[in-house]
Amino acid sequence: MSKLKELYSSKSFRESGHALIDLLGDYLEAIEKKSISKVIPFQEPDEAFNFWQNDFEKKEIDPISFFKTTIERSNHLHHPKYMGHQVSAPSPIAALSGVLTSVLNNGGAVYEMGLVNNPLEKVISKYLATKIGFDENADGFLTSGGTLANLTALLTARAKYSDVWENGTTKKMAVMVSEEAHYCIDRAARIMGLGTEGIIKVPINDSFQLKIDELQNHFDKAKLADIHVFAIIGSACSTATGSYDNLKAIGDFAEKNKIWFHVDGAHGGAVVFSGKYKYLVEGIEKSDSVAIDWHKMLLTPAITTSLIYRNGENTYSTFQQKAQYLWDNSQSMEWYNAGKRTFECTKLMMSVKVYTIIKSYGTSIFEENVNYLYDLAREFETLISENSNFEIALSPQSNIVCFRLKIAKNGLSINEVNSKIRRLLLEEGEFYIVQTRIKDKLYLRVSLMNPTTELIHLKQLLNKIEFMFDQKL
Ligand SMILES: *Cc1c(COP(=O)(O)O)cnc(C)c1O
Repeated sequence: MSKLKELYSSKSFRESGHALIDLLGDYLEAIEKKSISKVIPFQEPDEAFNFWQNDFEKKEIDPISFFKTTIERSNHLHHPKYMGHQVSAPSPIAALSGVLTSVLNNGGAVYEMGLVNNPLEKVISKYLATKIGFDENADGFLTSGGTLANLTALLTARAKYSDVWENGTTKKMAVMVSEEAHYCIDRAARIMGLGTEGIIKVPINDSFQLKIDELQNHFDKAKLADIHVFAIIGSACSTATGSYDNLKAIGDFAEKNKIWFHVDGAHGGAVVFSGKYKYLVEGIEKSDSVAIDWHKMLLTPAITTSLIYRNGENTYSTFQQKAQYLWDNSQSMEWYNAGKRTFECTKLMMSVKVYTIIKSYGTSIFEENVNYLYDLAREFETLISENSNFEIALSPQSNIVCFRLKIAKNGLSINEVNSKIRRLLLEEGEFYIVQTRIKDKLYLRVSLMNPTTELIHLKQLLNKIEFMFDQKL
């Protein structure tokens, strides 16, 4: 058989498929049985590059051994001591559907290329819209990440308030956002050509939420400078500290000034599933658009993001482009031709991954996950407050907790102590946490993303930090 034929043979797929599933099953089992001690096998970037360059030069043909090496050398998100960045430890069943969707590879820009994923995308968007509190006029789609969803929403907002799509930029325009917003908002504004003047950063209060009483004066100041503010973004929640902006007040402000209100709920928008924590996004139903990442709090592999609009018709005004080979009529609203409304042309079959979770565990699993992780953050806060060596940056609103050792040692400042500890943790690899700077103070930061993480692991983390402080500094 020619190599090309062999590449496509069902027999070789079946063989390597079974081997891969066994490998991944063994991997997850090893994590369960605590026989993988390191969360992160950290290596300096150049060392890692050299390793792979050498591997490349060996030219051996052995995909299974490559799969093994990839597992061994990766960051283990399913490990209960993974508490680093805000990416889900994907539910294994949803990960399996990733194989399904990779084999089928139905792109979905046009209905004929997405016979299953496009209607499913509508089902999921309508469902999420009801969770947000929108009515039947709402609609949306899935897209490749919160970054792209935020950019898309801002493009829609601008299209509503200007004819920039046809005529280019003719006047100065701006968006308003809190100082604590995710960096992708700043980037989106710059991609849109708004420049530094076009990103009005509103100060924050002591809880790291956008200061509502600063909104009007910033808006008026822009107006005086002939800058047209067309949108405001609420963070739900912010990335560094996990703080939720007051969406209700922002909604009132947007309504009064007739500007677009977008909610960046990439991480914490998931609380719309939780009876217990939904209060954090009170007012979200007043927004014009909401972005929520399924690949953060909602058990789905990356990359899977919903962008939902209160008025579904607005989804069609973002990209009013003629693509005659794809669509008979570029002006009509065909929900089933996803490419009319999304940045992407070819797109992953994201809806299948979300739907797989719903088909396997029902929709209540999302609420269970959010409640578990948010509850755990509050228990961790108590644990920290009972230990006089540590202090917390602020009471956690989400599952993100920023805390630090509050003692200096051997000429090291408190910032340096915490920075060294974080570096030692990374090099040692038993835990994976990150760090963040808040008002000139360096904090250790955990995002509790993994429902197998328990309070005992957080106790062990504090013990480990104290041990490192005593023995390694
Ligand atoms: C993660 C995050 C983003 C970026 O989303 P990606 O899916 O990583 O592109 C944007 N905003 C907030 C608040 C986030 O937490």
